[in-house]
Amino acid sequence: PEHFPVLGVPVHLLDDYSSWLISRLERRMGSHVVTLNAEMAMQAEGNPTLSEIIRSAELVIPDGSGVVLYLRLKGRRLSRCPGIELAETLLRQAGQLEQCPVFFFGGAPGVAQTAAEVWRGKIPGVAIAGTQHGYLSPEAELEFIQTLKDLQPRLIFVGLGVPRQELWIAQHRHLCPQAIWIGVGGSLDIWAG
Ligand code: UDP
Repeated sequence: PEHFPVLGVPVHLLDDYSSWLISRLERRMGSHVVTLNAEMAMQAEGNPTLSEIIRSAELVIPDGSGVVLYLRLKGRRLSRCPGIELAETLLRQAGQLEQCPVFFFGGAPGVAQTAAEVWRGKIPGVAIAGTQHGYLSPEAELEFIQTLKDLQPRLIFVGLGVPRQELWIAQHRHLCPQAIWIGVGGSLDIWAG
């Protein structure tokens, strides 16, 4: 999609981010979604690796109100797209699709599991294939990588905080090349209550 730079990283300009992503989900077009706020854009200014990862992402959405304000001041009309709402829309869509396993990764032990229970209650059709907390030893991480390879989730939420989640996705997205990977920050904590 068309984009406009904010502190050196692109923000994609779309009227409807969810439809664009749902279409990618349905067509199994692997994607990394970055939910950009001002704090992350500022981090990227001083972190070339993070900056490069954001520039390579298939979709960068204007998550923060500062980003939206900046773009409006530059004459770009667009609405804020909160990452947590986009994630919920994708989950509901996954619940409508045949064989669309979802994975929740991140947060303290128990958080992703509780969030999964909450969503299973709200969306009966959703297949949350697995959960994993975000404090893995190197050995446990290797096992987890194998789990992801075997499960091939089509939608993967990674809540490790910025920039850890973006780096993790960039390094591991090849394990599930057809998946939509989205860094969700503290959304798993919010869902778990
Ligand atoms: N987290 C994690 N592993 C880590 C560090 C952090 O799973 O090694 C989780 C933490 O438990 C929390 C999330 O990452 O659920 C960070 O959320 P925060 O709101 O700080 O993220 P932000 O969106 O502000 O970066």
